Amino acid sequence: MCGIVGYIGSRKAAPLLLQGLKRLEYRGYDSAGVAMPGEGGRLWVHKQKGDVAALEAAMGASGDVPPATIGIGHTRWATHGDPSDRNSHPHVSMDGSIALIHNGIIENHAALRIELEEHGYRFMSDTDSEVLVHLIDHLWKQIPFAAFESAIRQALSVVEGAYGVCVVSSREPDMIVVARHGSPIVIGIGEGEYFVASDAAPLVEYTRRAVYLADGEMAVLRRDGFSVQSIGSVKQEAAVVELDIELEEIEKGGYEHFMLKEIFEQPEVMRDVMRGRVLPGEGIIQLGGVSGYLAALRSAPRIHICACGTSWHAGLIGEYLIEEFARIPVEVDYASEFRYRSPLIGPEDVMVVISQSGETADTLAAMRMAKERGATVLGICNVVGSTIARESDCGIYTHAGPEIGVASTKAFSAQVVVLAMLALALGRGRALTEERFGEAVRELHELPGKMRRILERHQEVERIAGEYAGADHALYLGRGYNFPVALEGALKLKEISYVHAEGYPAAEMKHGPIALIDEEMPVVVLAPQDANYRKVRSNIEEVRARGGRVLAVATEGDREIARAADHVFYVPDAAPFIVPLLCVLPLQLLSYHVAALRGCNVDRPRNLAKSVTVE
Ligand code: GLU
Repeated sequence: MCGIVGYIGSRKAAPLLLQGLKRLEYRGYDSAGVAMPGEGGRLWVHKQKGDVAALEAAMGASGDVPPATIGIGHTRWATHGDPSDRNSHPHVSMDGSIALIHNGIIENHAALRIELEEHGYRFMSDTDSEVLVHLIDHLWKQIPFAAFESAIRQALSVVEGAYGVCVVSSREPDMIVVARHGSPIVIGIGEGEYFVASDAAPLVEYTRRAVYLADGEMAVLRRDGFSVQSIGSVKQEAAVVELDIELEEIEKGGYEHFMLKEIFEQPEVMRDVMRGRVLPGEGIIQLGGVSGYLAALRSAPRIHICACGTSWHAGLIGEYLIEEFARIPVEVDYASEFRYRSPLIGPEDVMVVISQSGETADTLAAMRMAKERGATVLGICNVVGSTIARESDCGIYTHAGPEIGVASTKAFSAQVVVLAMLALALGRGRALTEERFGEAVRELHELPGKMRRILERHQEVERIAGEYAGADHALYLGRGYNFPVALEGALKLKEISYVHAEGYPAAEMKHGPIALIDEEMPVVVLAPQDANYRKVRSNIEEVRARGGRVLAVATEGDREIARAADHVFYVPDAAPFIVPLLCVLPLQLLSYHVAALRGCNVDRPRNLAKSVTVE
């Protein structure tokens, strides 16, 4: 959440900062702002409520954007203080000489604010972030001749909470200082120029070389070089990595929205996630990132899965997968809940953490707790080099490519396939027979083709969406592997169309939600032909008997269901563990089209942002 950019070099900073902010807008769009040296060396700051395009237009209209070659920029996802001009970043010291942008939450901001006010500081915003800029100013004034970075270091040692910060000063016009604790910062290395960003997306059009700052590190960037130190002042070796993202991957490529593009990418993503891993010819699944740990994983008395949001839904499917194929007991937790109870986890246990960004604050905290208790941690992330990827003992990347749409789609399917591969690889060393393993591997191999066949019929979903777009509530029902898909379908609808939706295990309907059913209530029922089919058919009848409208997702060739449901969308026949990956596609498309028909901004749903780096 929240996007940070910075630039120091010889090009004009303003267009670079704006372009970088546009690339990061999925991280927040409550407000945007930039700071750079202006006339007479004073800092020039422009910030306002609204998106980056509005900022760009206002800056263009102002006609006084300085030709500076250094600057910082921010796109906000508000945590403290409403989205408004005054709460926008950068925040500036009272004399206008220091500007700071922040991603995260300063948890002791209230106490620090009181102290600073006692020292005569006046606050211009309601944010937690503003305390940092005054604190830096205060400490810098306390220590005559102290370096700018020393004042920042001291200030950071006083604050509690999470931060990624980027700071400039008119008194040190040729340097940017960045630091992180809990929120990501990447430094792009060019020739005589450096870029700063919250993730790699804004960097790839300028450079392939980058340094991911670790928690507790700060870096000082000058045109002729950079250094990384721990916030405790110890010099660190900066590990330069190659960025592996193509520019096309972060463009819309002709689609109206990133979300739609990402839905349609899924067959290809399935190929990417399985490439070199699922080898049907050789009858093996090869997971390089966990190979040294397979024995420990197989002998674990229990596997805990921790995640948030859509990744948690993938985790629920993971539970079914691992229990079916590997016969190891699995417990799935919301990462935030896991942390705040007294979980029983020890050195024999395994924790699997799932996060698209690899930066999700609650998941990271749950993972660190598990590590402290000696458990083996396996990370499933999409973003290469992310904090979870670096801190877990072993891991499997989803290789879904950058996911820009705030509502996760392709990352979800990739996570489920990773969990399926993991379950099969674990099962192979346990009770899973060669025959069942071989069948499952073949099913995985056929998945991309089946997904493609579904997506070719996207207009059918668009038509169905037209029938339901006016409803203000919806119920999603599924059993077994499709129960988490019901949860995910409901979440997608809530996220981007603001329609109240609930996902339920189909059998639970009669224990409460059935009271909600009337002619106004659409019910989406996942009814593939599996062992639960007859029971789900009865649930459909129960809904119909109360006047509810039913959209069924069913198996191709099921003619019976067409009589029972108002609308049917057919998916190809597949093994039960593959079916959730097929059923989720029409549900993603349904939420997309309902949102579009209701005039919602699909890629920027209100109040949401991607990469949840706050707890
Ligand atoms: N807590 C800060 C604010 O509300 C930063 C939030 C963010 O990470 O975008 O302004």
